[in-house]
Amino acid sequence: MAKNGLLERLAAGPVICAEGYLFELERRGYLQAGAYVPEVVLDFPEQVENLHRDFLRAGSDVIEAFTYYAHREKLRLIGRENDLEPMNRQALAIAKKVAAEGDALVAGNICNTNVFKAGDADAARQVRAMYEEQVAWATDAEVDFIIAETISWLGEAEIALDVIRQTKLPAVVTFALHKEGKLRDGFRPGEAAKRIEDLGADVVGLNCIRGARTMMPFVEEIRAAVSIHVAALPVPYRTTTAEPTFESLTDKDPECAHCIPDGRSFPVALDPFQVTRYEIAEFARQANDMGVRYLGVCCGAGPHHIRALAEALGRRPPASRFSPDMSKHYAYGTDPRLKQENREYAKNL
Ligand SMILES: [Zn+2]
Repeated sequence: MAKNGLLERLAAGPVICAEGYLFELERRGYLQAGAYVPEVVLDFPEQVENLHRDFLRAGSDVIEAFTYYAHREKLRLIGRENDLEPMNRQALAIAKKVAAEGDALVAGNICNTNVFKAGDADAARQVRAMYEEQVAWATDAEVDFIIAETISWLGEAEIALDVIRQTKLPAVVTFALHKEGKLRDGFRPGEAAKRIEDLGADVVGLNCIRGARTMMPFVEEIRAAVSIHVAALPVPYRTTTAEPTFESLTDKDPECAHCIPDGRSFPVALDPFQVTRYEIAEFARQANDMGVRYLGVCCGAGPHHIRALAEALGRRPPASRFSPDMSKHYAYGTDPRLKQENREYAKNL
């Protein structure tokens, strides 16, 4: 039996897409912060496979091929341009393999090129060429749909969408919204999303950069501006009005802040800002109530966040077998077989 595609699933309810492989594999010691190139795909493919599987078990409906920043500009920067095609093809093959273990969709992925410049035709040509080669590899791999993500220029998103549209596959476009709260070419998120809708995208929204608290007002703006499905994939950090992006978060604890190089918590000293899984559950309910159907968590996400998201939507993915149950905790538990003296001691813990 053929599996349901993205649009059928979105029509029926929320679709979960786990993201954030870069941060998680960096923490695990298989990828370098800075250039953030997914060399792990070629060098430690079993680690990528395991992480996909962790997210699948936690409830992700989509396995997104780990081709984020596996584009020509980045590969050139680290001197591995010759590995560009093998890296993309391998990432796609790994995603397909794991998706087939469940009922998951496989997504191809293109992202911010860091080459685009408003009004620069040569840059636009370069961006298009980078997207065309990656989208062609994704099409060869017979992905179910393609995501263009973390793009902060409307102009760049338009090129990405145009390239995806040639494939006839469903297109998801998510913008990255920096401190200014608008696209780098000056458009408000709602305006930019409407433009992307008019150009034929199937899903539009925001990913990365902002935690739910500072992302959701803009997601609401987008929800009101378009009639296609809307996506929200925040980072799992407590961003604030004063520091609305994870790049701008600064540690306020003088006992700790002094040892952080340049005083910049991004990207590898963000631990104290991490949200709890309960906050992810709150985000899921809020987004769902708003009619936002394409949900996930970006950089910083772990499988426990995705499981919390799935459970908040009323699901019980395989990893829910190990969701917390404090009834058998030696001190806080309620099980009558527990020692009474330990339960009484709980107030002293
Ligand atoms: Zn991200």
